[in-house]
Amino acid sequence: WVKESGRAGFRFHQPRKDVDLLSRMRLDHAMRQALQQGQFRLHYQPQLALDSGRVIGAEALIRWRDPLRGEISPAEFIPVAEESGFIVAIGQWVLREAVEQAAQWLRQGLHMPVAVNVSALQFQQPAFVEAVAEALRAAGLPAALLELELTESILVRDADGALKRLEALAALGVQMSIDDFGTGYSSLGYLKRFPIQRLKIDRSFIQGLPEDASDAGIVNAVIQMGRALRLQVIAEGVETEAQREFLRGAGCDEFQGWLYAPALAPLAFEQQVRQQGAAAPAEAPPR
Ligand code: C2E
Ligand code: MG
Ligand code: MG
Ligand code: MG
Repeated sequence: WVKESGRAGFRFHQPRKDVDLLSRMRLDHAMRQALQQGQFRLHYQPQLALDSGRVIGAEALIRWRDPLRGEISPAEFIPVAEESGFIVAIGQWVLREAVEQAAQWLRQGLHMPVAVNVSALQFQQPAFVEAVAEALRAAGLPAALLELELTESILVRDADGALKRLEALAALGVQMSIDDFGTGYSSLGYLKRFPIQRLKIDRSFIQGLPEDASDAGIVNAVIQMGRALRLQVIAEGVETEAQREFLRGAGCDEFQGWLYAPALAPLAFEQQVRQQGAAAPAEAPPR
């Protein structure tokens, strides 16, 4: 990277790729410290039934506030962690933390299924199924209150290996969903074979609703397919009433999105759910 350039002395030549590599390495180093120093937190985004308007679950989303850089988006650091392999350690922390939170809520009388995002590398660890079982055991959480969000890439990479693992997880009693559905390459045959319970329609297909005819067509098709396969269908990234009404009309089961709430710190999540219990949601059927 260092090149002599006449009397000006040395000049640094860093091709853009190397700069990126450097900043990825710095980010990776910072992540390792962050995990040690307890700088990661989980926030929980409510998931609601479209018919009753009730909160039926929570998606755990990781949050990281670095003292120097401020809030860093998982969209930025998760891909770096996936590349370096550190995602396995982060994922293990997320699993334990989310399962403990759900167990604590249960002890407080709040029966709240929690969904955890799982990366491909984490899912492929030989000890993954055992790690899930151990997290449930340690927290004393019924397996049915844990959902694992898997991506299509996890399932196509090694379909036979994935199927075995999914069956072992299903035997534990955990729920499984396919996240960002429609953005990957899962074949319909896999959907039929895999012991999953839910499809999560990717936000990119929700954004254009209700006007965009292709988005509307895709969303309708996914909902119909979900029905045929007896899977629950949830839409992510719902921001407007019009999107929610479209989804309800199309027969979608559930939604999550800023229309109702972003991912919230545990206390704020609890408050939100309790408020809902007190005041009937706008879309509740008339009494
Ligand atoms: P995802 O699993 O598809 O999560 C949904 C993302 O959409 C979240 O972004 C959420 O905050 C955001 N979102 C929710 N509602 C709305 C909405 O109405 N409008 C818009 N524009 N966005 C909405 P976030 O938290 O930044 O996470 C981004 C991605 O990072 C996640 O996508 C997931 O792939 C990954 N991620 C987050 N937490 C974890 C984790 O604990 N483990 C792993 N492996 N990945 C994670
Ligand atoms: Mg997710
Ligand atoms: Mg998603
Ligand atoms: Mg998504």
